[in-house]
Amino acid sequence: MTKAEIISIGSELTSGRNLDTNSAWLSRELAEHGIEVGWHTTIADDRAANLDCFSIASRRAALVISTGGLGPTLDDLTREVLAELAGVPLEYHEPSWRHIEGILRNRNRPLPERNRVQAMFPKGSEVLFNARGTAPGVWMRLNGTMVAALPGPPREMVGMFHDEVAPRLAGSGLARGVLVQRRIHTFGEGESAIEEKLSDLTRRGHNPEVGITASDATITLRIFGKGSTRAAAQAQIAPIEAVIRERLGGLVYGADEEELEQATAEALEESHLSLATAEGVTGGLVAAMLDRARWKRRCYLGGIVAHGLPGEALAGLPETTRLEHGSRSAEAALAMARGVRLAMGADLGLATAGIASPGEAGPEKEAGQAWVALAWQGGDACWPHHWFASPAEVRSRTAKKALNQLRLHLMERRA
Ligand code: ATP
Ligand code: MG
Repeated sequence: MTKAEIISIGSELTSGRNLDTNSAWLSRELAEHGIEVGWHTTIADDRAANLDCFSIASRRAALVISTGGLGPTLDDLTREVLAELAGVPLEYHEPSWRHIEGILRNRNRPLPERNRVQAMFPKGSEVLFNARGTAPGVWMRLNGTMVAALPGPPREMVGMFHDEVAPRLAGSGLARGVLVQRRIHTFGEGESAIEEKLSDLTRRGHNPEVGITASDATITLRIFGKGSTRAAAQAQIAPIEAVIRERLGGLVYGADEEELEQATAEALEESHLSLATAEGVTGGLVAAMLDRARWKRRCYLGGIVAHGLPGEALAGLPETTRLEHGSRSAEAALAMARGVRLAMGADLGLATAGIASPGEAGPEKEAGQAWVALAWQGGDACWPHHWFASPAEVRSRTAKKALNQLRLHLMERRA
């Protein structure tokens, strides 16, 4: 497989003023072209650093893509450095100059003579046309390695990659087919439990490759399909996805861009039931997540952030329950689920209670303990969980668990 190096150029990156997002984007994009990135290098607008870096990269990688340093100012060195390393002069490219002139005239900008350096290219290189800005890119060979120098502004870089670089990668034989990634999201079990169910698929060397990652209690499986065309790559993925879905059942809530709140909202819409929420430990996160979902119908009637006595009373927490069990308890979560359901005249009441930080823990309770409760016509249920995580994570994970329990309840009803 082709190994590539990405070089991000700019003192604003090495100083920490700007975040290098270009290399992350390029890595993901190259992966889809079957090209693996072995190195990310970030350097300042410094001549010696540029010379070193391009010289090393052109000897260890089969493809080098740089971004930045193509502007008209004295600190933009990429063109010069490439010419020097290749041992060739810079040559003037009239069409590029006319393009730059045209853009500056359109923007009613003066035409500084120094912009002319943007129309200078290492002899023997190809010009990469910039449809979105002045700085053209460079495509050339250095020590036998293909080098593409792209502009720094992300919009220009992305456009130039699609228009000018991707077709050349395909033509040069560097891009070996297409890599397609499918992400399957699960919630409700830990990484090792999921891995155990799928160990035959996630083992090294399995074709197609299946990876597993965890992010804030969401476990995601990634299937990487490879093929000479997109359709061929996708054909590898489909049967593996089917196996994963069959083995994990209700743990899977969505794929790719599908989010838990959206999956839950859709399950609620399909059930034709309405929902009210009362939140202790999650402090409104459940409501915010439900708010983010795209709704076709008004199923979510509203929520209460039950902090302190008035909020808890409004959510329907009886004083006797609070005194006997505390407002951070299974009993309180159940009482609020029932209470908010009645208070808002909803079909379902969903509530959270728990202890996010050690300061809130009492003699019999520990930070990280949380309860999710759901009440419906003629029934209720409560799910305890103990998170070993930071206060922020306890809140966000409990909110996700609340939505997930609601989703599972709706699935059971339908079954
Ligand atoms: P210009 O003609 O705009 O000067 P350039 O090719 O010289 O183009 P730079 O001067 O290096 O590019 O960067 C221009 C701007 O693009 C930076 O100020 C920054 O906002 C953005 N940029 C540059 N490199 C990156 C990067 N690696 N990731 C994200 N943004 C970047
Ligand atoms: Mg610049």
